[in-house]
Amino acid sequence: MTINEKKFSIVAHDEHDDHHHGSINVPIYQTSLFSFDTYEQFNMARVNEQENFVYSRGNNPTVRFLEDKLVQLEQGERAKCFASGMAAISAAIMSIVGSGDHVICSHQAYGPTREFLGNYLQKFGVETTFVDGSTLDHWKNAVRSNTRLLYLESPTSMFFQLQDIRGCTDLAASIGAETILDNSWATPCFQNPLTLGVGLVVHSITKYISGHSDCLGGVVVGSKRLMDPLMSNEYMLFGGVMTPQTAGLVTRGLRTLPLRMQRHESSGLKVAEYVSRQRYVAKINHPGLPNHPQYELAKTQMSGTGSLFSFESRESVDKLRAWADHMHFFRIGASWGGFESLINVNAFHALNAKDPQIGTLVRLYIGAEDPEDLIQDLDQAWRCVEQSPSEEELYEQNPGINQKG
Ligand SMILES: *Cc1c(COP(=O)(O)O)cnc(C)c1O
Repeated sequence: MTINEKKFSIVAHDEHDDHHHGSINVPIYQTSLFSFDTYEQFNMARVNEQENFVYSRGNNPTVRFLEDKLVQLEQGERAKCFASGMAAISAAIMSIVGSGDHVICSHQAYGPTREFLGNYLQKFGVETTFVDGSTLDHWKNAVRSNTRLLYLESPTSMFFQLQDIRGCTDLAASIGAETILDNSWATPCFQNPLTLGVGLVVHSITKYISGHSDCLGGVVVGSKRLMDPLMSNEYMLFGGVMTPQTAGLVTRGLRTLPLRMQRHESSGLKVAEYVSRQRYVAKINHPGLPNHPQYELAKTQMSGTGSLFSFESRESVDKLRAWADHMHFFRIGASWGGFESLINVNAFHALNAKDPQIGTLVRLYIGAEDPEDLIQDLDQAWRCVEQSPSEEELYEQNPGINQKG
């Protein structure tokens, strides 16, 4: 699919800035504070701490440079960068809800997000209903008179279920609620939720935006109407801000975001197509494959796809973990979005268990390597586990040989 060509210019070209002596990169302003000659200047700057440079917990030129790039990519008005994705997500949610409010959230949202909404916020009197977000009716049916926020993550990052973004923002508008959408998977290259009526977009910068697995970060992007109160409250008061060092690293990563996403998309589809044909796969979850139940919706709200996907398998967790152990290119680990391919194998309770036998979820992240190498790696590792039957299978074949002790 496609990335708007303008996005390549946004990340690769900077407005000339006299302050930096022609430096091609924005310097890392490693400073906690900014000083003034006169009290008049100091007082003028403090009138609007978010637009002037007074103190780095509020605004720092290196972080601001990154924020302005992300504003352009997401087509928002203002962005703030945080110390992690969760710092951004929790601040965005807190900026909208208060005691007595009700939230509706996709039941497949990122685990810590669900924990924050479903458990943590209860002590502040905020209640959350989790819905199967794939159908607009589920969102409608969950609406209450005190519903203040619809929290979306499209696609979700384990089962890759989409939500109808336009449908959800129209619903929110009709009941006077706000929307937040976690856009980490599609990135601003492939999806711009603010143009579909979403109030605040959040990202785990840790993933694709930084792209090199060398830092943690998060961002909230939106209109000035929603960002102004967030900047003076949750940003300044919680203080979970991005450091200038990290902003420098993230900006370097951002220069190649569209290039990397083109590569990730095509490699991800190649490997997913291969995987989908293997007999260890019961169901593959990749919104870019035509057999995805929301493939048509995906095409209307995304212009491309990320390279993180999963499949459900009837093979045991143990066998699929042994498969992972035999891989050379795929490393075992949490997270995703960097240059290196990763695998994760977990048991799961099928969310709409029609087939209780489907019990293992494998999530693959396709990095920047040669996709043929990755396919061969999956293949050779599978032949290793097929050739060495498990102890259980050996025992079934010949109960005599495998008795221990
Ligand atoms: C990783 C992740 C987050 C959290 O980001 P951190 O930077 O780890 O705090 C949020 N949403 C999604 C979809 C993620 O994958």
